[in-house]
Order: sequence, then C-alpha cells, then structure tokens
Amino acid sequence: MRYIPSIGMEVHAQLLTESKMFCACPVRFGDPPNTNVCPTCLGMPGTLPVPNKKAVEHVIRTALALNCQIAPVAMFYRKNYFYPDLPKGYQISQYGDVHPIGTKGYLEIEVEGERFPVRIKRVHLEEDTGKLFHYLPGESEVDFNRAGAPLMEIVTDFPPDLHSAEAAKEYLVQLRAVLTYLGVCDGKMEEGSLRCEPNISVAPEGSNQLGVKTELKNLNSFRSVVRGIEFEIERQIKILKSGGQVVQETRGWNEEGAYSFPLRTKEYEQDYRYFPEPDIVPIRISAEWLEELRATIPELPLQKADRYRKEYKLSATETRILTADIDTANYFEQCVQLGVEPKIASNWITVELQARLNETGISIRESKLTPAHLADLIDLLHKGVISGRIAKELFDEVFRTGELPSKIVQERGMVQISDEDALRAIARKVIAENPDVVAKYRAGKTSVLGYLVGQMMRETQGRANPQRAQQLLREELGG
Ligand code: ZN
Ligand code: MN
Repeated sequence: MRYIPSIGMEVHAQLLTESKMFCACPVRFGDPPNTNVCPTCLGMPGTLPVPNKKAVEHVIRTALALNCQIAPVAMFYRKNYFYPDLPKGYQISQYGDVHPIGTKGYLEIEVEGERFPVRIKRVHLEEDTGKLFHYLPGESEVDFNRAGAPLMEIVTDFPPDLHSAEAAKEYLVQLRAVLTYLGVCDGKMEEGSLRCEPNISVAPEGSNQLGVKTELKNLNSFRSVVRGIEFEIERQIKILKSGGQVVQETRGWNEEGAYSFPLRTKEYEQDYRYFPEPDIVPIRISAEWLEELRATIPELPLQKADRYRKEYKLSATETRILTADIDTANYFEQCVQLGVEPKIASNWITVELQARLNETGISIRESKLTPAHLADLIDLLHKGVISGRIAKELFDEVFRTGELPSKIVQERGMVQISDEDALRAIARKVIAENPDVVAKYRAGKTSVLGYLVGQMMRETQGRANPQRAQQLLREELGG
C-alpha cells in the first residue's frame, strides 16, 4: 500500500527591531546573560506592556505579502503555560480566527516546475521566551535577554497543501526569501532567528482522512528540515505497515544521529486557557495605515524570478539561486547595471561565488568581491587580457583580499599571451620536449593535442590564450 504524507508548517521568525515587543530593552544577541532585561520582560508584578509599533508593522507587511486578510482590529491574548524560560507564566500572543493580524493567505511556491499556492491560516505577533542552558548535570541556567523579543508566527492552513519533504523545504525557502526581501527577519536558521516546526502525518492513498501527526523540533538548517521530515515519514509508514499506531507527540531531531526522538506528548489548545490580554488595548488597523504599508512592499522573489527568466533568459535553477535572498538579487542587479551581460553575471554568481560563500560561511553582503570587482574581472576576460584559468585564480585572490582584479593583473604581469611569436616559440619547445606524444598525434591520435595545450599553459603559468595555443600547435605539427 502507498502512503501519502501531509505536512503542516509552523514557522517562527524573530523580527528585526531595535527594542523588545512590550518594553524598551534592546534586542541584541551575544550580550552577557540577563543584561538586556527590565521589570516588564522579567514579568514583575505591576508592570504594564506597551506594544512595539515597528513589530506590528513588520507583521502587517508580511501578512500583506502573503496575501492575507488583515484584521481591522487586532487583539492580543494570554497563552498560559508554565516553563522556566517564561517569566510571566504566560506568553502574550494572538489567537482565534479573526484577531490575529493576518488570516487566510497563501504563498505561491514552485516544485519540480509546477507552481501552486500553499494556503496560510494565520500570521500573528507574539513574544519570544528566554533561553535555557543545561551545562551541568542536575542544573539549568536561564538567560532572559531574548525574553519578550518580538516574534512572528506563520502557520499553514489545514488540511495541508504540502505532501513531500522537498515541497516543505521549498515553502521554507520561498518564505525565507519573502521575509528577507521585506527586511522583517534576517532569516538565519542556524542562529535560530528563523525556526521551523513541521507537523507530519501519513495516510493510505485514497483515504479521505489524515493520519495522526507528530511535530518536529530542533531543525536548524534546510538540510535538517528535509532529513527530519523524510525520517518521520519513513518512521510512521513503518509503524502503520506493522499494524501499529502513531502517537500524537512532539519529537526532537538529532542531526548527528539522523533520527527523531519523543520530547513530550502534544498538548491541546484548551490546555493553554487562552483569554484576551486585559493590559493591551486592541490595535485598530486603519485603511490609510494599511495603504501606507502596502506601498513599502518590494518586488517579491517569485516575481523577480519570472522577470529574470523573461528579461534575461535565465534558467529556473539560476533564478532560484539569484532570488533566494534580497542580497543575492541586489548583487546580481548591480552587476547588470555595471554593464555585465546578465547570463555571464549569473554564471559567475551562481557557480563560483556561491561555492566560495558556502565554503567560507561568508554572506554575500560581506563578500570582499563586490559587483564592481566581478565586472572588472569579466571585462579583463572578455577583452582577452587574461585567460579563463587566470580569471578563476584571480577570482579566488580577489575573494580573499578585496583587491581590484585589473590592479593585480597589472602589478604581476598576469596578462594573457596572445603574441604570435612568443606563443609559437613555446609551441615549438613543447613539441621538441614531447616526442612520444607528438608521434601519437602524427599516428592519428589527435586527442593528445589537449595534452600539448596543457603543457603550453604550464610553460606560461596559464597565461597562454588557449585557442591561439591550439591553433599554433596544429600549424607546427603540420596538421
Ligand atoms: Zn525589558
Ligand atoms: Mn508561537
């Protein structure tokens, strides 16, 4: 029997704001523990929360970009539960079908060339918790610097539109792109500023009921999202095939061991005793405010990808990489503005630059090799000043040092040798030094010519113009 997986996605995004959600404490990570705290975010009796307008605007803009209906009046609720990282004993959040800032939206995604909408149930605003550390056995420590930081939650609708790990990942890629384009979240999964908790179930093909779902936590990269979901699908199918039943629970993901393990049985909505937050007046979202915010929404990733395909004739793979975050898209567009042919700029960015960034963990924004450097390099290559091989070497060096390619070329005499006499002399030398290879060539094995070109490149430290080198070798060999 075949089983169909269904995946719902719950994503938490830390909002880029100066201060916390309900107090003036700075939102800053990496500071000494419990230094960015005050009576309000520590939940002292008698303190009153004051909502952060910027955070509200971030969520409204996100909800608009995700095609949501915007609540004319947004309200906060208390979500009650006890945990040591939650000083008040409740989290201020949003609840219900009408009061979250955004409801009933969708995000379009593309999987294997097919485009479809993933329906979104709600986009809401809440506050983050503190962070627990378990360094010593039997002891735990808590840092409240993050407690009360603005957090946005985005939940897909039910029944789920996502039916594979790949589709779930694509949803997350697209969502992350939208958030970074809007500038509401930095999208760094590894640092926890974008956290994803998928819920997964499987049901026999043709069944009109969904299976029992489990929720996965601790997924902090796209890779672990895919592996975690795939593992969970397999695990559930195995249980059902052997006649067992899946338990509704929250499970953790162990990345090193590549397995999921039970964390706790799932709590139900009624366990949280939601009720309206009495200390915050409902937020009225006027039509004027909404239009003002709508005007700040930039061209979104999928629209950009479509434009790149049409205007620049780029492939789906290329546009996907180029539009995955706003910094990469801006980088590409700057290269084009500097006069680089789009297809060529795209090649260098999606292959060479992407590889160096992945290797070093440097973000494109921090890259010392800027669009101006790339434009300079490509210009040298096209004018025939440097060879393709030198260009790649230069690329590495510029990436490391941030020096201008034309300056390095000039200083080191890396200029390509196209000079007829100089190259002919080297061709003769190579022929004289490789009698065996030459004999093979003359016997009809012309494929050895590549080896001789390689020898010429070696003689010239890669500075020979390869087309000219090949042509001259042929002439000299009488071919
Ligand atoms: Zn505070
Ligand atoms: Mn939440």
